[in-house]
Amino acid sequence: MPEKAPSKRIIMHIDMDSFFASVEVRENPSLKGKPVVVGADPKEGSGRGVVSTCSYEAREYGIRSAMPVNVAYNHCPDCIFLPVNMPLYRETSASIMEIIKNYSDKFQQVSIDEAYIDVSYTGSFDKAAGIATEIKDRILSSEGITCSVGIGPGKVIAKMASGMNKPAGMTVVRPGEVRDFLNHLPVEAIPGIGRKTKHRLEKHGINTIKDLSECDIQELKSAFGKQGIMMHMLAHGIDDSEVIDKKGQKSIGKQKTYPQDVSDESILNSDLVELCMNVHSRLKMKGYSCRTITVKIRYAGFIDRSKAESLLHPTGDLEAIYKKALEVFIALYDGRPVRSFGISLSGFDHDKSMQTRLDDF
Ligand SMILES: [Mg+2]
Repeated sequence: MPEKAPSKRIIMHIDMDSFFASVEVRENPSLKGKPVVVGADPKEGSGRGVVSTCSYEAREYGIRSAMPVNVAYNHCPDCIFLPVNMPLYRETSASIMEIIKNYSDKFQQVSIDEAYIDVSYTGSFDKAAGIATEIKDRILSSEGITCSVGIGPGKVIAKMASGMNKPAGMTVVRPGEVRDFLNHLPVEAIPGIGRKTKHRLEKHGINTIKDLSECDIQELKSAFGKQGIMMHMLAHGIDDSEVIDKKGQKSIGKQKTYPQDVSDESILNSDLVELCMNVHSRLKMKGYSCRTITVKIRYAGFIDRSKAESLLHPTGDLEAIYKKALEVFIALYDGRPVRSFGISLSGFDHDKSMQTRLDDF
């Protein structure tokens, strides 16, 4: 049998732009266009603690993440300093991740505002770029947040690419463009190469990724050990690490966002049926049954409400899921105009009905 050629990998890295600051601006649109700093209280220059995130306008004053907040204050006393509101960012992050998950079963969240998806199934970088545009648009319209996307043949290239064109950018690095993309960058552009390693590399006369790629691998190995080999491989664009959701999938969700707020219950009900059919078919694909059904409603003005209920026994049955979802929806919905709503299934178990069928054979 002829050996199957390895199919080309297409990996996408999606990174929210100045995430905490963007969420604050969304909550309070009067902050738009202003220098916003989220972090510890600067106490008029005597505060301790650091900047968590700052808006692009604040960056123009030289303010950066992880900078001591009193230093940031001295750069720009007129900046708007806000405390960190983690529950709000976590909730927004969860909604964003639900959107991204819809585009691939290979999904890996790496921090509150970044994720990888494997979109090799598209078969082309152009199609992947089309999907990236759709993801960017959906996150912006439903969460009011911009993000930047990098697409490459591996995770590291994708991550480096997403940082190239911020904010709201997209950078596609096709396999044939990897060498050229890397050659132009300094060594610290490789994720994981920090200040210390950069200085040590400099002592070996290595400043750029091109220098690193041309360096003798044995020399790197004796100076840096395993890390030397890793760096050499990355400098050549070799990176086979997989996109894996390390925590395992804990829920299957789908949401619907309306271009205009909806208060017609018949529309909401028919969309509830559609949402149930969507999550149910994905549940079946995985051979799971579920115990918990969560309904989340976002009312006009970004007011979020959610309610979860569990069944006595796990089910893989569409009708049982819909019945429970409707019950939860009725209990939760208070008649206000709805901007978006969604349902998710969790509490997975392997579907017993499928096991019985298998045992019959
Ligand atoms: Mg980010």
